[in-house]
Parts: sequence; C-alpha cells; structure tokens
Amino acid sequence: MDDARREGGRVAALETNAISLSSWDERETSSIVDVNTWITLTANAYLTEQYWRRDMAKGSCDCGEVSFEVEGLGDAVTICHCGQCRRTSGHHWASIHASFDNVVFTNEQGLTWYKSSAYAKRGFCKSCGSSLFYRMNDDDSINIAPGCLDQPTGLTIGKHIFVKDKADYYEITDDAPQIETY
Ligand SMILES: [Zn+2]
Repeated sequence: MDDARREGGRVAALETNAISLSSWDERETSSIVDVNTWITLTANAYLTEQYWRRDMAKGSCDCGEVSFEVEGLGDAVTICHCGQCRRTSGHHWASIHASFDNVVFTNEQGLTWYKSSAYAKRGFCKSCGSSLFYRMNDDDSINIAPGCLDQPTGLTIGKHIFVKDKADYYEITDDAPQIETY
C-alpha cells in the first residue's frame, strides 16, 4: 500500500470525525439520537485510525540508515537454516513475507543489495551490517527480517526450511513444521 492510500485512510478517519463534530456544533438543540450518532461516528473514526496503526509495521537497521514502513505482513515467520542464510546472518535467518509494493522506505541511504545467488539478492545496511531483506529476482515480493521490526510484532514462527543444512551446534526446539528443503 502506498503513501497516498495510507494517508487517504487517515484523512477519511479524520474527516469523518470533523464532519461529526461540525454537525454537532451546528445544532442549537440536540436529541439523544444526535448524541448517539456523534458517538458512533467518533468511535468509527477512532477505530479506523487504530486499524491503520495496527496494520502498519515499522522497521530499521541498527544504525538507522535503512528504515521502512510496511503493510500487509504475514503473521508467520519462516526460519531458514541453509548455508547462505547461515553465513549472511551468522546463524539461521528469519523472514516474514510482504508485497514489495507495500514497503515504503523512509531512509534507504545505507541500503545495499548483495547478489547471493543466480536467482536472489539480499539487502543489508552498508554502514552497520544489519541483515534486512531477501528478494527473488523478477518477483514482486520481499522477505523481511522480523528482528528489525519495532516491537511488539505479534508474529509467530510458522515453519523451518532447509533443515537438512542446519548447523550442528543447535537443535530446533519449537513445534513449527521442519521442512528438509523448501
Ligand atoms: Zn545501518
């Protein structure tokens, strides 16, 4: 979702609020119905604003030279244990899926893309080294490291992939499905 649409949602919420307030002010006398209508409209405007806040996540690298907002995140984190994810993250790499169109970069000064294979690239911050993104070539989605999201995220672990390549020094102890490859 782009800036204009997101802002449109906020404006609609505020306008609803403003209309209800002005109609309240213009009445010399009011009935209980008017009061109830005003309360309903105001509550709807408030809930709409709450919806937008809840639906939008913010994230950043450690130094702040990469920051972004994203809407429409899935609620299940994938943890990948493959060799590339092990080396680029230093352990296993967790990610959450989103449409790339739903990401708005508020700072991309430090963002650099590393071509990690013939079919994908990884986004990191060139200033602080934070591992942030994974994107398949010619794909309209992005995988985001959930560790860089502002807390609380409300996310849970959905599955482990490339378990066959897992490092030997740890065990997977949660109940999420373990998939040998992908
Ligand atoms: Zn950084």
